[in-house]
Formats: sequence, C-alpha cells, structure tokens
Amino acid sequence: MNHLDKLFIDGQWVASDGDEWLEVINPARETLVARVPSATNGDVDRAVAAAKAAFPAWSITSVAYRQQLLVTIAEAMQARADQLAQVVSDSMGCPLKVAKWLQIEGSIQAMGAFARHMDAVAWEEPMHNAIVVREAAGVCGFINPWNYPLHQFVGKVGAALAAGCTMVVKPSEQTPLQDYMMAEILLEAGLPAGVFNLVPGKGQNVGAHLSQHPDLDVISFTGSTRAGVEVAKAAAPTVKRVTQELGGKSPFIITASADLKTAVRYGVEDVMLNSGQTCTALTRMLVPSGSYQEAVATAKQIAESLLLGYGDQAFMGPLSSRQQQQRVLEYIQLGRQEGARLVCGGEAAQVDGAGYYIQPTIFADVHNGMAIAQEEIFGPVLCMIPYTDIDEAVAIANDTPYGLSSGVFAGSDSEALSIAKQIRAGQCYLNGAVFDCQVPFGGYKQSGNGREFSPLGIEEFLEIKAIQHPVEQPV
Ligand code: NAD
Repeated sequence: MNHLDKLFIDGQWVASDGDEWLEVINPARETLVARVPSATNGDVDRAVAAAKAAFPAWSITSVAYRQQLLVTIAEAMQARADQLAQVVSDSMGCPLKVAKWLQIEGSIQAMGAFARHMDAVAWEEPMHNAIVVREAAGVCGFINPWNYPLHQFVGKVGAALAAGCTMVVKPSEQTPLQDYMMAEILLEAGLPAGVFNLVPGKGQNVGAHLSQHPDLDVISFTGSTRAGVEVAKAAAPTVKRVTQELGGKSPFIITASADLKTAVRYGVEDVMLNSGQTCTALTRMLVPSGSYQEAVATAKQIAESLLLGYGDQAFMGPLSSRQQQQRVLEYIQLGRQEGARLVCGGEAAQVDGAGYYIQPTIFADVHNGMAIAQEEIFGPVLCMIPYTDIDEAVAIANDTPYGLSSGVFAGSDSEALSIAKQIRAGQCYLNGAVFDCQVPFGGYKQSGNGREFSPLGIEEFLEIKAIQHPVEQPV
C-alpha cells in the first residue's frame, strides 16, 4: 500500500489538514506496523461534501450496474486475500492462518453475496393505489471497531453500495489498514469519485463529528454499547437514521440430552476464538447441575490444549492492545473477588518474549448476578453456570441487558429449536452451527438496532416512497 500517509476523499489520495497520526501496533510482537493520519473535523467535512455531491448520480445507477460492481470488488478482494489477512493479523493479532478463514474468507463471500441479495429487494412494487419504491437512504457515516475489521467494513459498505448510498468511513484507530486496501480496490474497480471516502481518526473526534453531522442521513455504528449510546445521542438532533451493532453477553444452553463433550468443546472454542474478542461469543455456558462437574473438567482440558501465538499452529493470538489486555485482567481479578472459582488460566502471557496474551480462562460456580456474568469482558474468559431445569436455564439466558447471540446444544434439533424460540437474542446457533454472513445479523435489547448482511442488511440503507394515484371512487 502506497498511500498510508493520506486520506481517501472524492476519489483521490489527499493529505490531512492536521498533523496528528495514529500508530498501528502489532499486539503479538509489540512493534510499530504503520502510521496513518488522524483526520480533522475539516477533513471529515470535505469527505461528507464529496459523498453528498456524488449521491444524486450514484443513487440512480441501475441495480444491474451496482451488482456487477460488487462482483468485481469481491473478485479483487479474492485476488488480494492474502494481503488482507496479513494486515488484519498484523494490526489486531489474530494468527495469520486463523485470520484467513475467520476474518477474510467470509468477508469476501459476503461482499459478493450482496450482489445476489439485491435480487431479493422489492425495488418497486404495486400496493393499493400506489407504487412503493425503495430508494437509497442518502449519505452515510460508518464507524467500526477492531475485532473483525474487514467483516464489519463489508457489512456496511457492501450493503450501502448495493442500496445506492454514498459514504464516509471511519475504521477503528487500531485497525485502519484493511480499509486502505479496500479504498485501493474500490478505486481500481471503477467506483465513481465521492461514493466512498475514508477518514481514519479517533472516536471522540472523527466519530463524534460524523455522528452529529447535519449532512449525513444515516449513521451505522459497530462497537461498545457505551459509544453506541453516545453516537445515538449526537445523532438525535438531526433525526438521522441510526443503526447500532453493540456488545453481548451471550448464553449457551447445554441440555441434559446433549452430547456433553461435543457441546463443551464447541462452547469453549467459540469463546476462545479471536481471543474472546467476538461480540457474539457464547460467554455464559449453562449446564445441567447433574453434569456440571464433568462439564467443568472437560472445559478445563480443552482450554488448556489451545495454543497461544502467531504461527500456523496457534489457535489464539494476543488481545488487540495492552489496554484491552489490562481491562480483561481487571475483570478476571473482579471474578475472583466476587467468589467465582478460577478453573484455569487467569494470567497474562507472552510468546517469544512479547505480546498482550491472556491464557484461556474459565470461571466455574458463577452466579448470573455477578459482574463477570453481566458485563461484556471481551477477552478469553468463559463463565460456567449450573441450572436445575430448562425453565431456569431460559430465565438465566434472558437475564442480561444484552441480546445479541445465543446457542443451544440438545439431543435433537426439535428440542434445541423449542428452546431457541424462548431466547431474546438476534441469533441462536443450534447444535454446533457457525456464523453465516448470508443471514441477518443484529441484536435485541441493548445489543443494538437494525440488521446487517442478507437482503435485510440492504434494507437498512433504503428509504420507502409511496407514489400514489387517485383512488377510484365507487359509483
Ligand atoms: P468502541 O466502542 O470503543 O469503538 C468502536 C468505534 O467507535 C471505534 O471506531 C471508535 O473510534 C469509535 N468511537 C468511540 N467512541 C466514540 C464516540 N463517542 N462517538 C463516535 N465514535 C466513537 O469499541 P471497540 O473497543 O473498538 O470494540 C469492541 C466493542 O465492539 C465490544 O463491545 C463489542 O461487543 C462491540 N462489537 C459489536 C459487534 C456487533 O456487531 N454487535 C461487532 C463487533 C464488536
């Protein structure tokens, strides 16, 4: 990449007005990877003006034209898949081999899938005396976190391009590099100037300025519930549409009929993958009291077998930053103080003398009222909670301010399904199912508003207009 000292505005690589820089640190090696400009409010205003100017022409391009463009973009991403994986791995720590399948492959598929999802949108439909048309919602601002940075980029940018919106994008200050690569790809693919603009910067500066900007029609945010609330407050006076993909504290119910070892392995690996930095992680494992001790012993054995590091054998990388590592260690300390039993892990670690690692950590004898069971830790920490019957398990599962994800492992699909229907969450993974970016993604309760991916993800970027004819009066 040749343009890391620039911003991408109106189809050009341009210098920032300011002189502040963001440092991208490799959390596995503790080395500087790159520096990119931290955009100013003036830079953001230029980017929004470019997106606003590009909107009239872009928003009326044909569906077929945008579909072809999305396919071209996905192909170009595929051609650079290894480089995308490298920059994601270098900046947020996911081991390269894991990053390829976990962070990159699905994101590329999701970009291409938006072209197909456009066929499922009712762009024009007759309704009573009207034609109901779906039109691009306008100029969008996107704010993303660092944990799945390409995936989150695609969920917003792919859907907005499909809808015919223009956009200004702010990646997390820790992980801007894949967005730079994507700007190059979009430029090469022939995206008209101003449709996509990239302004890296800090949340309290660029993020806050975007959120309140009077010329944005939509703000789509992924990140913590704390920042998501700030974004919604800042956006309220301009009545822009706000979609929020926020935190989670997701339950995983294992029933008495489930294959315990298979279920526990699935649950432990789900939490530890990406070092616990997954918003949908099933961090509360609910186990029948009769098999609880066996489940705890199995979970310990599995967790202790997971290899830390950055090489091809590694399952878990470091936490994304020293600050994140400290935050998770403080939660582990809190769990001990609250009286939970530390079964394994709990300590910081290094690989080859560096890195912000934490050992896979399991707490047993957790009560759902404890802070470690209620608050999102966002690290490799699993809480195991016993229950007496399914009604109690469902009550515990739903006893959280969050509602992003959930899982059920049972002896049969029908048993799992009947429990899934009682859980207040935007996703439920049955009997070992894994994340699929072809279906809608989003949260209930304080996990957010709106959906990403699938045709419903495109709908978030559409306005609805009813064009009406006079109603014929009966004679
Ligand atoms: P964060 O909220 O600190 O930051 C996310 C983004 O918001 C960053 O780009 C940051 O610069 C920006 N930001 C911060 N304060 C802001 C403000 N006041 N106004 C505008 N923008 C602001 O979150 P993080 O630490 O980067 O990411 C971890 C969080 O993201 C976790 O809570 C996780 O659950 C959540 N997350 C949710 C989803 C989802 O889809 N539901 C996906 C991934 C991560």
